[in-house]
Amino acid sequence: MTAVKDFFTSFMLTELLKGLRLTGRYFFARKITVLYPEEKTPMSPRFRGLHALRRYPNGEERCIACKLCEAVCPALAITIESDKRADGTRRTTRYDIDLTKCIFCGFCEESCPVDSIVETHIHEYHGEKRGDLYFTKEMLLAIGDRYEKEIAANREADARYR
Ligand code: SF4
Ligand code: SF4
Repeated sequence: MTAVKDFFTSFMLTELLKGLRLTGRYFFARKITVLYPEEKTPMSPRFRGLHALRRYPNGEERCIACKLCEAVCPALAITIESDKRADGTRRTTRYDIDLTKCIFCGFCEESCPVDSIVETHIHEYHGEKRGDLYFTKEMLLAIGDRYEKEIAANREADARYR
């Protein structure tokens, strides 16, 4: 009986018609394809992209070299060295992130007591060799300086959930 049913199912091309019905339904439906990169989908203020180091409005770097981010990083991607400055405060002399190791978990920014290390919305970057994705303190500060306005706005938008 099953063989007869299968024979008529294939003979009448019902599977094909079912497929065509599905195609026809979506052919006239509203298209949801995003034409990236001209069009972009909305991004959460919590998006975890490229890292940045922030400064206070007076230009002083926020990082106090507590090394919490280095300790919490599960990928061992952060390397920090620090020293005492003439004014007695402690600051990093080296702050590197190896993005080939980073898993973008966000633990570093969650652990930072002064909102210094953050992950920005930047995701369109690449490296052609391993060294290109090794970000030094100067590079991270430069990203922070450039995108501070957007970083601050995103932190503000997310503040009530933190
Ligand atoms: S996002 Fe996670 S893996 Fe990447 S540097 Fe921060 S703590 Fe490490
Ligand atoms: S970025 Fe934040 S958590 Fe990391 S060493 Fe600096 S102050 Fe500490």
